[in-house]
Amino acid sequence: MSLNKFDMIVIGTGPGGEGAAMQAAKEGRRVAVFERYNHIGGGCTHWGTIPSKALRFSIYTAMETLNSPFVKSMGLRPHPSLAMLRASARSIITKQESMRQNFYERNQVPVIRGQARFVDPHTVEIDDGTQYKADNFVIAVGSRPFRPDGVDFNHPKIFDSDTILELNDRPHSITIYGAGVIGCEYASMFRNLGIKVNLVNTREKLLEFLDDEIIDALSYHLRDKGILIRHNEQFARIEGHDDGAVLYLESGKQLKTDIVLWANGRSGNVENLGLENIGLTPNKRGHIKVNEQLQTDVEHIYAAGDVIGYPSLASAAYMQGRAAALHACGCVDRCMKVTDIPTGIYTSPEISSIGQTERELTAAKVPYEVGHSQFKSLARAQITGRTVGMLKILFHRESLEILGVHCFGANAAEIIHIGQAIMKQPPPNNTLDYFINTTFNYPTMAEAYRVAALNGYNRVF
Ligand SMILES: Cc1cc2nc3c(=O)[nH]c(=O)nc-3n(C[C@H](O)[C@H](O)[C@H](O)COP(=O)(O)OP(=O)(O)OC[C@H]3O[C@@H](n4cnc5c(N)ncnc54)[C@H](O)[C@@H]3O)c2cc1C
Repeated sequence: MSLNKFDMIVIGTGPGGEGAAMQAAKEGRRVAVFERYNHIGGGCTHWGTIPSKALRFSIYTAMETLNSPFVKSMGLRPHPSLAMLRASARSIITKQESMRQNFYERNQVPVIRGQARFVDPHTVEIDDGTQYKADNFVIAVGSRPFRPDGVDFNHPKIFDSDTILELNDRPHSITIYGAGVIGCEYASMFRNLGIKVNLVNTREKLLEFLDDEIIDALSYHLRDKGILIRHNEQFARIEGHDDGAVLYLESGKQLKTDIVLWANGRSGNVENLGLENIGLTPNKRGHIKVNEQLQTDVEHIYAAGDVIGYPSLASAAYMQGRAAALHACGCVDRCMKVTDIPTGIYTSPEISSIGQTERELTAAKVPYEVGHSQFKSLARAQITGRTVGMLKILFHRESLEILGVHCFGANAAEIIHIGQAIMKQPPPNNTLDYFINTTFNYPTMAEAYRVAALNGYNRVF
C-alpha cells in the first residue's frame, strides 16, 4: 500500500477530528490526521474551551482569595494583570497538547502538517503539493469568530473571542456585543474582575434555548453583579479611538468603553478546503450539511464539530467525530446518534441542562410536574458558602419519567450528569423513583436531586 494511501483521512485535530481519528484507529483502520496550525488540539485547546475555562478558574480563585476577610485584614489590595491570570492557562494548554500528541503516537496516527484541500473526492493535497488518498474522510475543521465587514479588528481597542486572549492591560470597562454563550461567559469573567461590563443582546432574552426560569435567574444574577444588559439591539458600527471604542447601535444608543468585544456568531473554516472540487457547497455561515450519520452529500465524506453548526460544543464535536468514524468503519451495531446533548455554560452562576424545557413541554401538551431544590437549603452549599443556585426536575406526572433537568449554581455542569444518567435508562428505570428511593451521601450537592424529586412528587395527586 502506498505511504500516502489511508483508510481514513481526518482534517483537523480539534475534538471532532480527534474523536474520529481515535475511533477509526481503534477499529484497526489506517488513519492520518491533517492540521494546519503549528500545534495540535484545535480551536478548543488554543482559542476556545480550554483557555477560556482556565482563565475563568484563575479569575475565580484570585478573586476568592483577594476578597477573603483574612487577606483584606492584611490590607492587601493587589490587582493581578490579565497576563498573570492567563499564565496558568498556558501551562494547561501545553499539558493538553502533549497528552493529545501522545494519543496520536500511541495509536500510530500520523499528524500531517499543512492546510488540507480536496483535489477530488478521494484525494487531498497540502501546501507543498503532496497528495494523500483515502477511502473515507472526516472534515472537522472547526470554526472562527464571524467578522462583519466594516469593523476594524486590527484596532487595539476592538477584539473578537480569539484576540481577546491576547489582551494584556486590564480595561476599566468593556462592551460585549452578542449575548450568546461566549458573550455571557466573558461578561461574567470580566465583571468578576471588577470591570464595568455592557452586554448587548441582539435578541429579546439571554440564551433563549434555556428553560425560562433559568434565563430569569441568569439575567437577575448578571444584573445583580452590576452588568448592564441591553436586549433587542443591532449594531450599526464600531469606532476605535485612542482612548477606547464606541459601539453605535441602530436604536441610536452609543456605548463608549475602554474596549469592545465582538462575540456575535461564528463561521465554519471552509475556505481553501477545495469543497468545490467535491461538489459540496457550505451555507453562508460556512456550515456543511450532514445527515443523521454525519455523512455529507458525498457519502464517504463525513463532517463533525463546529463546521456542521449547532450545537458547536467541544463535547458534542468529540462524540460526532466518533459517530462518523464508527459509521464509516461499518460498525452498524455500535453506530451512535449524537442527540440529548447537555448544555454547560460557564457563566456566574454556572448553568447546565439536559432534556426538555417547561416551554417545550407545555407547547407539546405533555402533562408534566416540576420539583425544585434551592441550593441555599442544602447543608453542603451552606458549608461551602456557595448558596446561589437551584436544581429543577421536570417529570411526567403519570409515569414519573424524567423529561428534563435544569440547574444553575456552583458545579451545575457536573451535577447535571447524575440526572442525565437516570434519564438515559430504559423505562421504568428512568423515573423520579430513583431519586426518591436512593440514599445519597450527606452533605453533598447531589442531594439536590432527592430534595427536588420529593418536592415534585408531593405535587402529584
Ligand atoms: C471562547 C470559547 C469558549 C468555549 N467554551 C466551550 C465549553 O466550555 N464547552 C464546550 O463544549 N465547548 C466550548 N466551546 C466550543 C468548542 O471550542 C468548539 O465547539 C470545539 O472546539 C469544536 O471542535 P472542532 O473539532 O469542530 O474544531 P476545532 O477545535 O476548532 O478544531 C479544528 C482544527 O482544524 C484545523 N483546520 C482547519 N482547517 C484546516 C485545513 N483545511 N487543513 C488542516 N487543518 C485545518 C484548525 O487549525 C483546528 O486546529 C467554546 C468556544 C469558544 C470560542
